[in-house]
Parts: sequence; structure tokens; C-alpha cells
Amino acid sequence: MFVGHYSVAFAGRSERNKIPLWVLFIAVQFLDYIWATLVLLGIEKLRVIKGFTAGSMLDSYFHPYSHSLIAAVIWSCVAALAYKVICSRHGCQESKSAPLIVGLAVFSHWILDLIAHPRDLAIYDTTWKVGFGLWNYRDPEFVLEIGLLAVGILLYLTRNAMPSVRRIAVIAFGVALVVIQIGDTYVPRNPLTHKQTVMGVWVFYTLFVFVAFLIEKIGSRRQVNPP
Ligand SMILES: [Zn+2]
Repeated sequence: MFVGHYSVAFAGRSERNKIPLWVLFIAVQFLDYIWATLVLLGIEKLRVIKGFTAGSMLDSYFHPYSHSLIAAVIWSCVAALAYKVICSRHGCQESKSAPLIVGLAVFSHWILDLIAHPRDLAIYDTTWKVGFGLWNYRDPEFVLEIGLLAVGILLYLTRNAMPSVRRIAVIAFGVALVVIQIGDTYVPRNPLTHKQTVMGVWVFYTLFVFVAFLIEKIGSRRQVNPP
């Protein structure tokens, strides 16, 4: 799963909870940030194999600390708690349920990975590996990613008050994510090394976080009436 993860970020933000979109963009990819870092450090293991599955070259054969179910639950709690602490120190305006929403956004990553990944997601450590393997079916997996993203963006646009210039920017960002997903799924390329791959994860995911941050600044000086 790639851009489909961002559907949860878009869907999670509402006028009521006021969680910044960029925070949710980090949350939904939090497990992959940990994974990319641990692969770079040589603690978790990744092979990049052309044709490993129809929709992905990633053979993530050892990632118990970022992608086992137990790890996902622990990281979700850590993220929710960290958000709560940071918010209470900085006096953010978020709702009381905001830390829970951030935690659920982190956990959603594991659920969506479960659908796409081949059986490489352990329940605990490296035992009982699960994965529905939708990556073996390139077109359905692509349709799911795009469908999820579209629904997420639609919810974001309906649950948040914003000036029309920002609305257009959000839709343009969605289109850009679709184009990136088309490139990832359908454009043939030679596999990168495992280090290049996870550095790419860091760079691209952080770029998306930055765009999400900028998008919510667009037109913010102008007043927006609450719905
Ligand atoms: Zn993942």
C-alpha cells in the first residue's frame, strides 16, 4: 500500500478535531518511517527484487520492530501519547479525542498493509505471518489505492471549511498522488538498492508532509466560516 495510506490522513481531519493534516500525514506512515530508519541502520531487512509481486518489488523479509501487529499497537500508543504530551505543552486547540485519532491513524497503516502485503506481517516478532497479498494483483491493488484516496479526499473536503483556493489545491495534490501511484505501479524500472529505496521513502514521505502543511496555510489569512 502506498498512496492509499493517505486516505486515512485526509479522512481523519475534521473541523471538530482540528488535527493538522501534516500531523496525520506523518501518523499514517509512522510505521514506514520506523521501518525505513531501521533498514538504513541494518536492523530490519529488505530485498528489492524485480517482479517479487505484480505491484511491488519489496521483499521485506524481516521487519518485526516496525511491522508486526504487536509493534504496530505499541507504536500507535506511543504516537498517541507523544501527541497528547506535545499538545498539552503547546496548548493546541485540538479536541480531546485528537490523540486517539492520531493513534488510530498510525494503526491504520498496519491494516492497509495487511491487505496489500504478501505474508510478511508477523503477529509477534517473526511468528504467524499474515498478509492478503493484493500486491499479487496489480490492477485491483491500484484501484483500491486510488479508490481509498478519493474517498479520503472527499471526506476531507466535506468535513472541513476552507476557501475554494485551498479546495483546488487539495484536489491538485490528490491528482499528483494518483500520478505518483501510476508511476509506482505501472512504469517499468530497474530495482534500486534497499538503501536507496528506504531513503526514497524518507524523502518522498517527508515531501508529502510538507505539501500537506503548506496546503492548510493556503488562504488561511482569509476568514473561513465554520459550517
Ligand atoms: Zn508499511
